[in-house]
Amino acid sequence: MSRRTLEQLVRPNILRLKPYSSARDEYSGHEASVFLDANENPYNAPHNRYPDPMQRELKTALARIKHVDPACIFLGNGSDEAIDLMYRAFCEPRVDNVVAIDPTYGMYQVCAEVNDVEYRKVLLDTHFQFTARAMLEAADEHTKLMFLCSPNNPTGNSLARTEIEALLQAFDGLVVLDEAYIDFASDAGFLPELAEHPNLVILQTFSKAWGCAALRLGMAFASPAIVDILNKIKYPYNVNLLTQRQALEMTYRLYEKERWVDTLKTERGWLGKVLRGLPCVQEVYPTDANFFLVRVTDAPALYRYLVERGIIVRSRHTVALCGNCLRITVGTHRENEQLIAALQAHGTDE
Ligand SMILES: *Cc1c(COP(=O)(O)O)cnc(C)c1O
Repeated sequence: MSRRTLEQLVRPNILRLKPYSSARDEYSGHEASVFLDANENPYNAPHNRYPDPMQRELKTALARIKHVDPACIFLGNGSDEAIDLMYRAFCEPRVDNVVAIDPTYGMYQVCAEVNDVEYRKVLLDTHFQFTARAMLEAADEHTKLMFLCSPNNPTGNSLARTEIEALLQAFDGLVVLDEAYIDFASDAGFLPELAEHPNLVILQTFSKAWGCAALRLGMAFASPAIVDILNKIKYPYNVNLLTQRQALEMTYRLYEKERWVDTLKTERGWLGKVLRGLPCVQEVYPTDANFFLVRVTDAPALYRYLVERGIIVRSRHTVALCGNCLRITVGTHRENEQLIAALQAHGTDE
């Protein structure tokens, strides 16, 4: 079997596309001080100027932290932008399809539906693991993308590394591996092996470990050829100035992110132990993320009970394999104690 090339995977209209060339794209390299090219207002610096469409300074800083070439980084308005662009770049509506593990992050399916692309689900096993073989069996010649998420949301576990590797070897389309929670895992993830897998797209985000969900900044790591395609179809100024500046600022405080992760991992250990001892809890699933999937006796009722006490968790009761499960984020120690106090009072104060 000959592997499909990137040219064969990309939609023909995208392959042909000549991207919009913004004012800030056209000049580069020269020292400039008079900017009369973009019809901006000369007053109200710095917000009067369009931001760098290619986020060069931020990518340089991230490349250093992540040990990848800047040409292998795409930045988007949240990971959600990168997910949507993958569909728009590679999946012909009503012709192509994608295969994804199930249950997983809901945006893969929402973006499939928005783009009118068939979404094929492959159920995880009772340990929330997948096999490369089951994914390949669900695929056909119109399968362009496969979605994996490790650590997975909402189950919290990391997917088996050997199966991810097997899929990367055997599938001749692109594998999107969402590592939104990788900072909380013991494993380094697949970024160190990015160069060995030309069909791998890794998603990471500023929304979780970095504590910057409000910024809306998602990262995709892939071969320069794939990154070029995403850059070609993105909105020119998709990452605004405030986000670029604040994210750059965060990269100078990498130690702070690392401290938060350490604290949350300690807190996760404590919370898991206490949850396991509660009468309303049937099972606390192993987690590599900053949340727990917890099976309780009556998830809808417990959810409402917590809401009444001002504590909001996420019910995953209607999700495949997650009947009677709540997804509980690890908070500050105070927040976690409030949760535990409420759960301990459950059934005794009613
Ligand atoms: C939270 C989360 C994201 C983050 O999405 P952003 O758009 O970057 O905020 C991505 N993937 C998964 C699986 C998540 O749980």
